[in-house]
Amino acid sequence: MHFSTQSIHTGQSPDPQTGAVISPIYATSTFEYGNPEGFDYTRSGNPNFRRLDQTLAALDQAEFATVFGSGVTAITAIVSTLKSGDLVIAEENIYGCTIRLFRDIFEKFGVNIKYIDLTKPESEKVILEQKPQLLWLESPTNPLLKILNIPRLCEVAHRAGSQVVMDNTFASPYLQTPLNHGVDINFTSATKYHNGHSNAMLGVVTTNHDDWQEKMIFAQKALGLQPSPFDAWIVSQGVKTLELRMERHCKNALDIAQWLEMLPEVERVIYPFLLSHPQYELAKNQMKAGGGIVTVKLDKNRESIEKFLAKLKLFPKAESLGGVESLVCHPASMTHASVPRAQREAVGLSDNLVRFSIGIEHIDDLKKDIQQALDSV
Ligand SMILES: *Cc1c(COP(=O)(O)O)cnc(C)c1O
Repeated sequence: MHFSTQSIHTGQSPDPQTGAVISPIYATSTFEYGNPEGFDYTRSGNPNFRRLDQTLAALDQAEFATVFGSGVTAITAIVSTLKSGDLVIAEENIYGCTIRLFRDIFEKFGVNIKYIDLTKPESEKVILEQKPQLLWLESPTNPLLKILNIPRLCEVAHRAGSQVVMDNTFASPYLQTPLNHGVDINFTSATKYHNGHSNAMLGVVTTNHDDWQEKMIFAQKALGLQPSPFDAWIVSQGVKTLELRMERHCKNALDIAQWLEMLPEVERVIYPFLLSHPQYELAKNQMKAGGGIVTVKLDKNRESIEKFLAKLKLFPKAESLGGVESLVCHPASMTHASVPRAQREAVGLSDNLVRFSIGIEHIDDLKKDIQQALDSV
């Protein structure tokens, strides 16, 4: 079956007992002993989780999926399998909360993490020499939209005896299925594109390895990382339109990126499917389209940028991404405010950097809104 059919039918069949076309929400903490499907307690399983597992495994072309309370919860589940003394090598531009989780929690327990620029060829030597337990990838990255060569890095990691973890949140399974490129453990914040309506939180880990699946099921119940049945149900509804939404997100984002590139107020536009993107060829090979995020450097000082953001009417200034509504984020004052300026600038997060999560509104209205906000500063 094709992607859109699976998102609507896999794990989404009518309820066998009542014929309800849309699954009910199993709002129960516990189950009567001896039930045919073997449920016992919602922390270790619930019909809404099991249904969504099936849907999300199908979209990632994976054998197994496990749902968690959020993307960060999925990360916690994966990292909890490590032990003191283990090493993780990670791309240096990964999601900020992943960095915080390692720095403030897991490093206390002796898990080591080393950040490198995985777009550089020298990184392969580091992986081969240091043989980390896990190689941690994210592509495209946030907010610089760097593209990592997933098959190449998997090949190098496997030669070093390492396993590869991938954060696929920015792409979603519609744009790329990392398990098919050699990734061992793939996770996604389903809070973003999978759900698409900014009204629930959920994370998912997919894998083709039995041993990793066992570890994920164990982490879900032993660490209490499960989502609520209600949020799992919400995501089961949202995901049905993932393909349609992604097509529109990508079409709008490419159009806006090309248009912004021509404006005099714009110093630089970063978007994987623009010819000017340093990994354009790789992005074209690896992804079905360029995604819904457009990052720009405006030719303006910080004060004018804050004014520009305040003048936007269709782009609430908010963290997160992947919802039907457009959002704008200023990393220097929002997501990365806690990082000292010098360190921010060293990785390319300048004060004039603005990240748009392009929604599925009409393209003309989005452009008109950006234009009037630019005109007013
Ligand atoms: C949002 C996000 C996460 C964390 O997911 P939550 O559902 O917010 O916990 C992880 N990685 C990336 C790239 C994200 O954008």
